[in-house]
Order: sequence, then C-alpha cells, then structure tokens
Amino acid sequence: MARTVKERLDAVSKRLTMDDHGVLTLDGIRTLILPAVVLTALEDAAEWLLGQDLGVALYAAGQEVGKEIGSQWKPRNASDTPTTMYPALLAEVAARGFGQIEVVAVDLAAGTTTVRLRASPYADRAEGARESACLFPAGFLAGALGTMTKRNFAAKEVQCKGKGGDFCEFELTATREIAAGGEGTPTEPTAPSESPAAS
Ligand SMILES: [Zn+2]
Repeated sequence: MARTVKERLDAVSKRLTMDDHGVLTLDGIRTLILPAVVLTALEDAAEWLLGQDLGVALYAAGQEVGKEIGSQWKPRNASDTPTTMYPALLAEVAARGFGQIEVVAVDLAAGTTTVRLRASPYADRAEGARESACLFPAGFLAGALGTMTKRNFAAKEVQCKGKGGDFCEFELTATREIAAGGEGTPTEPTAPSESPAAS
C-alpha cells in the first residue's frame, strides 16, 4: 500500500535528531529546515554577482546532488530494480517538502523517463520563474536516475509551472553508457537557450 506524502513526512520527522550543539541530522546527513525562498535567494545572489544566468552551473550542481543521493539509496527489497527504486527515491524527496513528484513513465529499455513536479519550490516564485529556474531539479533527476541505472541521462524540462503550466514536466533521455572512469556532461538541450526578452 503506497504511503501518502504526509505519512512519509511523519516517518522522516521521526528520523530527525539534534545533538547538544544544535546540529540537526537526518539519516546521518546534516540537515537544515529553511524557508524555501533561501534556495532561490542564493541563486539570485550568485546571478547578481556574476551578472549572468547560472543555468548550466545549476544543472551540474543538481546532477552532482542527484548522483550523491542516488548512490546512497539502498534497495528495500531483493526484487527492487531502478524502475521501482527511482520512484521510491523521488517519493522520499517529495516528503521533504519539494511538492508531489509523479513518475509518469519509466521505460529504461527505451532509455526514457518522464517526471512531473507538481509543486516545485524552484518554480514557485512570486515574481515568476526565470528561464533557468528548474535546471537544478532537472540535473538532480538526471543524476539520480543515471547513478541508479549506471547510464548517463539528460533531463529537459518540457513544461514549467513557473511559466504557467499545471506542473513542471521533465523528459529524461539516456545519452550514452558511462565509459569506465568517465562522466557525462549535460547535453545541449538541457542548457538554457537564448532567453526571450525579459519582460
Ligand atoms: Zn519548472
């Protein structure tokens, strides 16, 4: 029986621990409870400092985090495969407050996967999402799936809630096998193209 996202949050809450120095951890990883606006404020600050869109860097950062989280994921059952583990990992991410995440389709034989973020904090910006708003989660989705499947995936956002869509939808496509010792880089479609004139 699938647990609801709120039931998962309750389970996550029970695994939070704080030591005498006020260091909060979740499953051994130092954790902060932050207002979501901190995420986007940091992105804004970096873009202000650099005077340029951070899109490609955000995708790469998300990919690294996705690889890290994906590599730590332990199969729950002997029968687990990436097709079942990937949605399970994303359900855990959703329980941390990133909004409901739906894996619409997984076809690893074809090398394609579609994921929807229904209430992503990256897209949920009062002033409207920028062109690169969802490149961090795009990188995360690709990195986590790539690690679980030992393949390289590129993620492209095909619809964004921050730009008026009902949700953020990402299409993940296997690019190539990971060569020994080699790492993939985001392929061209994931990089922000030239932005339309800012309004
Ligand atoms: Zn989006």
